[in-house]
Amino acid sequence: MGTDTPRHITLIGAGLAGALLATLMARAGWRVDVFEKRGDPRVQGYAGGRSINLALTERGRHALRMADADDAVMRQAVMMRGRMVHALDGRLQLQRYGRDDAEVIWSIHRGDLNITLLDLAEQAGANIHFDRRLDAVDFDARIARFADGQGGLHPVGFTALVGTDGAGSSLRGAMQQREELGERTEFLDHSYKELEIPPSADGAFMMEPNALHIWPRGHYMCIALPNDERTFTVTLFLPNQGDPSFASVRNGREAKALFLRDFADAVPLIPELERDWDANPTGLLATLYLDRWHLGDRAVLLGDAAHAMVPFHGQGMNCAFEDCVSLAHHLQASSDLAQAFAAFEAERKPNALAIQEMALENYVEMRDKVDDSGFLLQRELELALQQRHPQRFVPHYAMVSFMRIPYAVAQHRSHVQRDLLVRHTAGRTSLEGIDWAAIDADVHALLPTLEDAVA
Ligand code: FAD
Repeated sequence: MGTDTPRHITLIGAGLAGALLATLMARAGWRVDVFEKRGDPRVQGYAGGRSINLALTERGRHALRMADADDAVMRQAVMMRGRMVHALDGRLQLQRYGRDDAEVIWSIHRGDLNITLLDLAEQAGANIHFDRRLDAVDFDARIARFADGQGGLHPVGFTALVGTDGAGSSLRGAMQQREELGERTEFLDHSYKELEIPPSADGAFMMEPNALHIWPRGHYMCIALPNDERTFTVTLFLPNQGDPSFASVRNGREAKALFLRDFADAVPLIPELERDWDANPTGLLATLYLDRWHLGDRAVLLGDAAHAMVPFHGQGMNCAFEDCVSLAHHLQASSDLAQAFAAFEAERKPNALAIQEMALENYVEMRDKVDDSGFLLQRELELALQQRHPQRFVPHYAMVSFMRIPYAVAQHRSHVQRDLLVRHTAGRTSLEGIDWAAIDADVHALLPTLEDAVA
């Protein structure tokens, strides 16, 4: 192969990660082919089927900047400053995520984001083949077979395959047939349903737009994220069994009764609650673990295909975007594909596991803790310690959402910090008279500066 021949890579799936990775690789001079089972959303309309909008945070934005995609994406984003907590009696409380508007997260529309990234991938030179579902792979002959939905099958040669085909990855299935990947899926015993808050008659947002709204109710909760067309997407997370649950709330009429009892202030805002409930599917939630993400120099998985997670930290896409930057980096750094895939897996697997675990933990925090007085006192101490020790004590949410320190480091430090907050607030109702000298000594003893921690 001449040195001028562009290197070639084949991606399976042109969803969020696939479209971003295609852009990164094409811009780096690679020949990129992407095969997507759905039709082109720019022609047929977006058929996402789940989670209409997503929280975008610094990790994802950094990856978008690497692909020069940030400006285009941010034009459609709505800022969320914090959680707007809706109490049972309708009282509202805004809990800021960060210190000021430099520390916020963004709500983006999945379909718009996907279309923006597809445009950029094509502009960068990637070839996207729509209506091509991966059907089977011959790893020895390096031939992948795609179905076109009309009964046709298309064999295509490849150098290496990247699985960006999401949680139900077909490439993962094909790899698993060839070699044991150690796949394990743990379903959460909670599921979700999406509903919509339309704009008001004069086209305005019906609630405060610059917030992620939460109705915490102990074992279950509702959230709502703004869309730039002035709607909100509401998601109810509910257990599968018990009362209330998806077993006890069986149709739109019963859902309306639950909302009238537990989310009363939301009811007038969701005019089609009953109809949407009956029409929209109930989504399952699961965490996917794999022992191995790659097959020699022939195939590698990333994003949800490698490590799908529950959505409670709003990090699945952000993590998938970080994967894309990491894989692009390792592919550029080594001419040996097997080595690049192995280095990528070694870097990302511990971090994916950390955010999977933190996402599970965050469900309990969101549905049960955000309106708890002990939690709020811990949060007050957390902010005070951040001011006293900005290099050492960075709140958990900030490490995950406003920074790019590895998830595994953020997880470890968060556990140390949480333990410290719980110990020093135990039995207290305020921070008055607290022993700052003892706490400062603890911070110094237990938390190296962040720079040292990631060096
Ligand atoms: P996907 O986006 O699922 O894309 C996979 C693509 O592959 C699709 O286009 C699909 O059509 C295609 N495909 C599938 N099979 C084949 C095949 N056989 N052949 C060819 N193509 C195929 N993440 C966040 O960061 N923030 C959030 O706020 C957030 N909220 C969420 C809320 C909910 C309710 C859910 C369920 C998820 C949420 N996530 C969030 C997670 C996020 O949706 C995923 O992590 C992200 O979509 C993963 O991107 P991906 O490209 O790996 O997979």
